[in-house]
Amino acid sequence: MNRLYASFLSVSLLLASCTSAQPKPGSPTTTPEPDPLQTPWEDRSIFKNGLVVSQQGILNELNGASVYHIEFTIADNLYEITGTQEVRYTNTEDVELNEVQFRLFPNILGGEMLISNLTIDGLSVTPEYGLKNSLMIVRLPASLEVGQSLVFKMDYSVTVPQSLDLNYGVLAYAEDVLALAHAYPMIAVYDDEGWNAEIPPQDGDVTYADTSFYIVRVHAPKKITLVTSGTRISLDEEGQAQVMTVANGPARDFYLAASPEYEEISQSFGEVTIRSYAPKGAKEGSEFAIDVASKSIEVFSKRYAPYPFTELDIISTPTLALGIEYPGAIAITSRIYDVNNDYRGVPASIYMESTVAHEVGHQWFYSLVGDDQLDDPWLDESLTQFATLQYFTDRYGAGGASGFQSSLEDRWSRIGKADIPIGLPVAGYQGSEYGAIVYGRGPLFFVALQEEMGTATFDAFLKEYTESLSWGVATPEYLQSLAETHCSCNLQVLFDEWVY
Ligand SMILES: [Zn+2]
Repeated sequence: MNRLYASFLSVSLLLASCTSAQPKPGSPTTTPEPDPLQTPWEDRSIFKNGLVVSQQGILNELNGASVYHIEFTIADNLYEITGTQEVRYTNTEDVELNEVQFRLFPNILGGEMLISNLTIDGLSVTPEYGLKNSLMIVRLPASLEVGQSLVFKMDYSVTVPQSLDLNYGVLAYAEDVLALAHAYPMIAVYDDEGWNAEIPPQDGDVTYADTSFYIVRVHAPKKITLVTSGTRISLDEEGQAQVMTVANGPARDFYLAASPEYEEISQSFGEVTIRSYAPKGAKEGSEFAIDVASKSIEVFSKRYAPYPFTELDIISTPTLALGIEYPGAIAITSRIYDVNNDYRGVPASIYMESTVAHEVGHQWFYSLVGDDQLDDPWLDESLTQFATLQYFTDRYGAGGASGFQSSLEDRWSRIGKADIPIGLPVAGYQGSEYGAIVYGRGPLFFVALQEEMGTATFDAFLKEYTESLSWGVATPEYLQSLAETHCSCNLQVLFDEWVY
């Protein structure tokens, strides 16, 4: 294939599948486009098309957010990855730092991640490892002052597990789907605990991450459809390979899924395009997922804050969870796409609706408003379950809401409605307590809080909570004090009864 044909092909693919990119037709007289991976660290213009107009101003804020430039190749076998990552890290804390920590999550997700050729500003360094090799500690040659930056460069390889055994199969190549979650060296969060890194329990989410920016180039076999967080900048073919470049940010993670079986359907709602990827036989479920996601975005945008991105991808994967959230993308288990039949004795459409609404809810509580998902799972999971209740309320009225609310009561009843606090870390729960408390009792706390504060006051509180913490990190203390400010009341008794 010659180059002219390749660029014509990339333009037509872009026009066919990506409304937000603005490709320029290639011609012999056109000067070559600059390589996106060579974008200056401070230049965020490439991210503009990924944000709705009202949210583009954030690109002038978030000073010092990490910037990742990643290029990797997916092997023909679809489970081996090799890549290079350059990341510009800025000390945005209020103390100087002597080390920077990276998470190598594949090493505790049943796979393997190896790092080589690590440099800091071009100087070779040797890292140390901890937490079963899921933590890479890089001691700095000199202290990093507040506001100063460093560029880390490294090569890495990932072997993706071919089973779904660990953490619901978030990282897996199975059933002809590659689910590539947390599969690049991720900078850990520095907070009031210092570098905050631990091994995630099997029950909960894996990551705790700050908002960052990502420019990613993926080389992959042509036979697979690639889906990622963020917005596609270009897609070209090179022989038997395809090369896709993506801009993703502001975002807390970069996610990719791929399969030779995916069929894409999409629909635009105002500035937002929702794309759904599922095997060909699952079209009805795929269409229903788009319907639920669009209504969810409508409800949550009105209640909390606008959905920030111009795209949302819904991706069928074999995960053993019902669904998993990523910035701008949600993975939904392939087991609930047969929406005309039952799943575990319940119509699969019911699972599909509550799961999609829940995972879309995480675009506000996890993605836009971050939190320590390991220490404060109620701030993302319980609040997202409550958002799901608000979706059913706003879409179907009191009848729809009471059905979902009784499912929350049922969930809590699985452990006899024990008054275990909703505010424990994931590791603080035993067995089925985590699901029953964080997903059942937790959202019922927000129902109680709404009753205590009055609906109008509660709604204003939750809106300000979302807007004031957008792209930042929430804490339980902030949530309580903001609620108390809104109601001009003391909520300590209520919080003691439910949260602590
Ligand atoms: Zn969730």
